[in-house]
Amino acid sequence: MEAVVLAGGFGTRLKGCIDNIPKPLAPINDKPFLCYLLDYLYANGIHRVVISTGYLAEKVEEAIGGSYRGMTVEYSVEDTPLGTGGGIKKALRKCTDEYVVVCNGDSFFDVDLFEMRAFHIKSGCPVTLAAKFIENAYRSGLLDFKSGRLCGFSENGIAPSGYINGGVYFIKRTLLEEIQEDKFSFEKSVLAGGYDIGVYESDGYFIDIGIPDAYKLAEAEKDRLASRRKRCAVFLDRDGTINKDTVHLYRREEFEFLPDADKAIAELKKKGYLVTVITNQAGVAKGLYKEDDIGILHSYVDSLLKEKYSVIADGYYYCPHHPEATVEKYRLDCLCRKPNAGLIFKAVEDFKESGIEIDLSKSYTIGNRISDVLAGKNAGVEHNILIGNDETDENGVASAVYGSLYDAVHNIKQVF
Ligand SMILES: [Mg+2]
Ligand SMILES: [Zn+2]
Repeated sequence: MEAVVLAGGFGTRLKGCIDNIPKPLAPINDKPFLCYLLDYLYANGIHRVVISTGYLAEKVEEAIGGSYRGMTVEYSVEDTPLGTGGGIKKALRKCTDEYVVVCNGDSFFDVDLFEMRAFHIKSGCPVTLAAKFIENAYRSGLLDFKSGRLCGFSENGIAPSGYINGGVYFIKRTLLEEIQEDKFSFEKSVLAGGYDIGVYESDGYFIDIGIPDAYKLAEAEKDRLASRRKRCAVFLDRDGTINKDTVHLYRREEFEFLPDADKAIAELKKKGYLVTVITNQAGVAKGLYKEDDIGILHSYVDSLLKEKYSVIADGYYYCPHHPEATVEKYRLDCLCRKPNAGLIFKAVEDFKESGIEIDLSKSYTIGNRISDVLAGKNAGVEHNILIGNDETDENGVASAVYGSLYDAVHNIKQVF
């Protein structure tokens, strides 16, 4: 899934609390608020983010860069203020999905995007917004809705409690092209513009840091600024699975994707899977190259994926050990060399630390060796696929056998 984050706000309401930084970069316990938001999007299946910036755009770009965890990040800069609608319209031109998540860069609403997406598609509406029930609603404009459809808005200060617009939307990517202007208000021209608007109720944690009191509260509640989600993963072998196995590959010049393997990785990401590369690198143990070389090579692989498909992998894990290593510190019978499951366990543990629980019963390993299949089995992964012609599945340990990574990926269904 793709997301647009609206981070062009001036931060006028926070004057005195933060100065000379755009509101989404306001620090919450020394970490920019925008990072909490990006963590949330990542946990919820977003693989690509377009950040719409205006005021102090360069500071946002400097803080976040071209990728964030397993997501690629791009920027849509408003040179002149385009209003909320114009900003979204411009950013959506950088997207490719049929429906795109749009959220405010200065509020956090822990909506389950997988569930909201299903609701949105079922509703048939071009736009769905996420609604949050609040007490003490006197200061807020409230939503009036019935059977999941928006009927209108109430003025501020009328009811003691009710539903507010939480600032998280699913929007049909091409919708705003119907509006001629480049500068307009999303609230007026779209939400109150006669379109069918779906309303998805969520009781997830909500906070709007644009309000000074709430900004102070966010520091105290920082643990709630995190989404906990179950996700599915694909653990890919590297050599002979995604790239040509040149034996002890470490030079960038020698790296070459197998036919459509990069496309397969992009498809997995777009299907909602976390994609992690798990590889034995005994060349380190043999003193043929260094661990640093592996890191450089993997950054290069990510740059190729990003350039062509706007995706990157969610992680790379390697085993540098070998029982007969020439380099002494790598000489051991480790638990991470496949067919052992150590690397997969490590990846699962790392995801868990950042709020993502991997559902192994819906996850996959794919590799060109039986040892890859066994590593998956040993880790408790449900589907363990053998690809290519390098080895045959004589003992029937693989869940399935395909000719290539691309063939295998075609038989993996969408997560959502
Ligand atoms: Mg291999
Ligand atoms: Zn190892």
